[in-house]
Amino acid sequence: MTKKVDDCLFCKIVAKEIPSNIVLEGDDFVAIRDINPQAPTHMLILPKNHYDNLAKAEDAEELGRLFMVAKQLAELDKLKGFRVVVNNGRESGQTVDHLHIHILGGRFLKWPPG
Ligand code: AMP
Ligand code: ZN
Repeated sequence: MTKKVDDCLFCKIVAKEIPSNIVLEGDDFVAIRDINPQAPTHMLILPKNHYDNLAKAEDAEELGRLFMVAKQLAELDKLKGFRVVVNNGRESGQTVDHLHIHILGGRFLKWPPG
């Protein structure tokens, strides 16, 4: 059973109740293009299970699989270098309270991030 929360934007995207630009889908995730890209490639991996954020995630194997998807997506867009970001909590810039992994690439990425 997928953990779903009413009124969660990403749960609705996962359930295809809201359209999105899907890049890849698996048993426990949907990967989409970000609607407001911050780099030429900006994708999001959404676990089908709802966790508010990383601090609420429970399953190490599930998290591990999501990171393997990040690698797959970078290969798909032939990214040489790429950045994987998980914002956790308002102070970090998290705006959607459904755990998601950002994959950014296709331009030189400065460090440290803002
Ligand atoms: P965060 O700030 O880490 O919570 O990231 C949320 C991301 O979701 C932002 O980069 C938004 O641009 C993106 N986003 C918000 N709504 C949508 C949507 N309907 N489809 C795709 N991406 C979205
Ligand atoms: Zn959700």
